[in-house]
Amino acid sequence: MPGRFPLLGEPLPLDLINTAPSLGDLLQTPDDLRAWCTAQAHRLPELGADIDVADVSAVRAIRAHIASALERAHRGQRPRQLDLHALEDAQRGAPAITRLRWEDSGVTAARQRTGTPGQRLAAELAEATAHLLADPAVTTIRQCDAHDCVIWFLPTNPRRRWCSAALCGNRMRVARHYQRHKAGK
Ligand SMILES: [Zn+2]
Repeated sequence: MPGRFPLLGEPLPLDLINTAPSLGDLLQTPDDLRAWCTAQAHRLPELGADIDVADVSAVRAIRAHIASALERAHRGQRPRQLDLHALEDAQRGAPAITRLRWEDSGVTAARQRTGTPGQRLAAELAEATAHLLADPAVTTIRQCDAHDCVIWFLPTNPRRRWCSAALCGNRMRVARHYQRHKAGK
């Protein structure tokens, strides 16, 4: 669904906290969550069709802890213990095993979690966040330079300033041009 989510393709935890921009929460209903999972289907395990309000709450709850932990960690500050515990608890709530199956002529191995869709999703997102928090690159995470944009990203190019050069980059260039033009009058 193009346009429903502002920026996709950043590390999962960043895509997640980018669903709560100051403009309004993009994960409010089971439909929202389903759409987000569909957009992330290439890197999230299959959750099944039944997503309900409790699942949305579970994801929103972990999202708040993820945002809080990354907010501090990206500045090189120690995350709150409360947030780190929540990330561990979420993983404990839906532990993963490597499920083994015989298929045709060989054994297949697939990671699988127990729990409700919301618990599994929260666990998956908490685990991805754990890896991101422990990655030295966490301090290079930044927010879009546009004063009115709160989108987070992990720049692969250290000079990247905008969530999207085509959107915010352009918008700010136009605004600067307009300001200069006005000042010159
Ligand atoms: Zn932006």
